[in-house]
Amino acid sequence: MTSYVFITGGVVSSLGKGITSACLGAILEARGLTISMIKLDPYINVDPGTMSPFQHGEVFVTHDGTETDLDLGHYERFVRTAKGGRHSNFTTGRIYESVIRKERRGEYLGATVQVIPHITDEIKQCVQRGAGDADICLVEIGGTVGDIESLPFLEAIRQMGIELGHDHVVYVHLTLVPYIKTSSEIKTKPTQHSVKELRSIGIQPDILVCRSEKPLPDESRKKIALFTNVQEKAVISAYDADDLYKIPEMMHEQGLDDIVARQLGLDLPPADLSEWSAIVAAKQNPEATVNVAMVGKYMDLKDSYISLVEALQHGGIHTRTRVNIHFIESRDIEEHGVGRLENMNGIVVPGGFGDRGIEGKIDTVQFARENGIPYLGICLGMQVAVIEAARNMAGLKGAMSTEFNKQTPHPVIALITEWRDMTGDTEERNEDSDKGGTMRLGAQAVTLIDGSLAARSYGKTEIEERHRHRYEVNNNYREQLSAAGLTFSGVSVDDLVEMIEISDHPFFLASQFHPEFTSNPRDGHPLFKSFIIAVREHSQGKLPEVAEA
Ligand code: GLN
Repeated sequence: MTSYVFITGGVVSSLGKGITSACLGAILEARGLTISMIKLDPYINVDPGTMSPFQHGEVFVTHDGTETDLDLGHYERFVRTAKGGRHSNFTTGRIYESVIRKERRGEYLGATVQVIPHITDEIKQCVQRGAGDADICLVEIGGTVGDIESLPFLEAIRQMGIELGHDHVVYVHLTLVPYIKTSSEIKTKPTQHSVKELRSIGIQPDILVCRSEKPLPDESRKKIALFTNVQEKAVISAYDADDLYKIPEMMHEQGLDDIVARQLGLDLPPADLSEWSAIVAAKQNPEATVNVAMVGKYMDLKDSYISLVEALQHGGIHTRTRVNIHFIESRDIEEHGVGRLENMNGIVVPGGFGDRGIEGKIDTVQFARENGIPYLGICLGMQVAVIEAARNMAGLKGAMSTEFNKQTPHPVIALITEWRDMTGDTEERNEDSDKGGTMRLGAQAVTLIDGSLAARSYGKTEIEERHRHRYEVNNNYREQLSAAGLTFSGVSVDDLVEMIEISDHPFFLASQFHPEFTSNPRDGHPLFKSFIIAVREHSQGKLPEVAEA
């Protein structure tokens, strides 16, 4: 039978509940348990797919193509057994949608449909389905205790505690313990209030994880324990860490996994955290430092590209390289030129939607290509590379994606339905492969050309990566672009372009898919490793032959 650990948050948002949950998953997994992880989001949107990255950060895509909250990215990066998917992320909107559908079908047999029990029952069923057959299911509840929206979720997890019993359910509450500089005092009151709020709706936390700048002094720990009715040793100090990957060890040292195991009556082997210490050690002792420019649209909110930033860091961990990422607005490149890219050892153009700054991205690609600077393009970053090659290598003036200009004379990137009509190609495509107008989502197989940079990076020719896009390379232009020097080194089962590269360049590679979603710190990712190796060579002055010629 699966046991549950419910993680709630209090005082303020953005305390790192997702990371805390992921780290708890990591240390429990390090004790031999299988883990599943669920995020419950109190907002009304049915899924985060339509939410602006400015407000909500990245949309993380799971293997099965579900568009989820970015916390699911943390879970997958920290916990190997946690495989996110359709059953791992539920919003209020999705819960209500499902209840209303049932009501319309008459499934409630004429009952008055109410928050309790119908919405709470639906939540409990979703949680139990998402838990699968893991030993422990960690359930993070978004928002902060006291929000109107989170009440049905909190009520559902309260009920689960009663139904499953205290030896199958653990409540963890994350709070903030602020340090007031002017009076040099640590304040425990917000934590006391937050727990009081939680207890008023019937949940007594078993463990408190207290976020603070510095480690919590014993007297504060005592005070918090006394006022919140939590055992002193179960008040865990989650002080600011200079490295995310130190957190599993920090929590383990304070016995967090032991407290959970004891409450659930589990007799477990000791935690093996050696992989995490190896990561921390690798980060602390880099052999080289490189500068990588990331040229995109949402540069003020780094969370918009969190998986990509992490994947680049993982590439650094596995090559002993400190990767300094410089976030540059593509609009700035449009307004002030490519000057800021001059001292960079590598350039990344990430995925994105909408035309803002698109010409700046195209100029960025041209600069990387002409100056032999390692280039990695992701999704839109591949599409702009194709546009740049069309314009400046194949001489197709005005080439563009129809996402940004419907009237372009050369729609080198377009919806499948648009470019298939161009040649009157009426070849039947099955339902699945014809994604024109809709999003291509989730993991799909890609075949790489033997001997290409792509295949050499992966060390194989058959791979699987996750997608999230609508537009595709227009196959009608492939011949012309190939003749101009662009290699199509990866294709999908239905012959859509998945990867491009340029051979007379030290490293020019781009993918239609998002490799960052499958990178994790322990294993790294082949594409990011090989990119960082090229970036490092560039930084060491091993200048490419093309640039010297
Ligand atoms: N906007 C582009 C498309 O829809 C690229 C999407 C992305 O980069 N994720 O195809």
